[in-house]
Amino acid sequence: MQRVAILGLGIMGAGMAANWLAKGFAVSVWNRTAAKAQALAGKGAKAAATPREAATGADFIFAMVADDDASRAVWLGADGALAGANSGAIGVESSTLTPDWIRELARQAQAKGVGFLDAPVGGSRPAAEAGELRFFVGGDPRTFEAARPVLTAVGTKMDRLGPVGAGATWKLINNQLAAGQLAALAEALAVARKAGFKSEQISDLILAGAAASPIVKLKLPRMLAEDFEPTDFALNLMLKDARYAAALARSLGEPGDMIEGAEKAFARADAKGLGNKDMAAVIG
Ligand code: NAP
Repeated sequence: MQRVAILGLGIMGAGMAANWLAKGFAVSVWNRTAAKAQALAGKGAKAAATPREAATGADFIFAMVADDDASRAVWLGADGALAGANSGAIGVESSTLTPDWIRELARQAQAKGVGFLDAPVGGSRPAAEAGELRFFVGGDPRTFEAARPVLTAVGTKMDRLGPVGAGATWKLINNQLAAGQLAALAEALAVARKAGFKSEQISDLILAGAAASPIVKLKLPRMLAEDFEPTDFALNLMLKDARYAAALARSLGEPGDMIEGAEKAFARADAKGLGNKDMAAVIG
């Protein structure tokens, strides 16, 4: 039986842990707020007191936390996962993070004899709960093949996009496009309302047009109804992604005008106290 550790039991990590348990993996879990581990412990997971304890004896160690700072906190230091990881274990960072931090983390893992993949995900709460995530993977091909069964247990599609950092880079490009569309949708709806169009008419017109992308279709009803709970993807996480994506664009010599505009829209909603609501609250 393969042993999986998962650090971070938020919306995405909790869904992944439940699927590994259901598929017969031995699962150890750790979350900063310990209470979130209780439900999974009731389903057979071993709740650990530290990331180090969770990682000890695991074949695969996954992290699914908010941002670069959270990732650094769970992997490094005396209580961090790398301190407990067996040589030969594989670390998988599935959070949406900067490629620079991912490459640094991979170096630290390598120094401990731990294999490493960045494998951020596409799909939100429903995909995590259903075990239907899509993984964007960076790392060497052999490590990817070794991890394929554990990824397959929680995901339906996985592509190795290049060396370490390639998954993180693509994930930011993906969310650059998603954040831009959501910010543009929020702005269009605000203008349409001020111009006198009614919700039903706005909805019909958008859905019948070429601008109705999958994410527009998904979030349009929630934006029109101002229905921001439950949160499938927190607004403050999309703000983080927009910041990381804008920095990536600039680092590659692109001005990043669109993503900087989206970043501004998400920051404005966050400043109104909507950070923990669903990202549809960018209309806020
Ligand atoms: P979430 O529900 O907000 O959970 C965030 C997790 O990070 C929690 O376990 C939280 O612990 C932990 N955390 C935050 N700061 C920490 C710190 N300093 N030290 C240790 N742990 C810390 O987020 P999520 O939706 O599961 O997203 C997780 C990652 O996946 C993010 O990088 C996000 O951008 C990405 N993602 C999310 C979605 C989505 O639809 N939700 C889709 C694709 C990718 P506490 O419980 O103690 O706060």
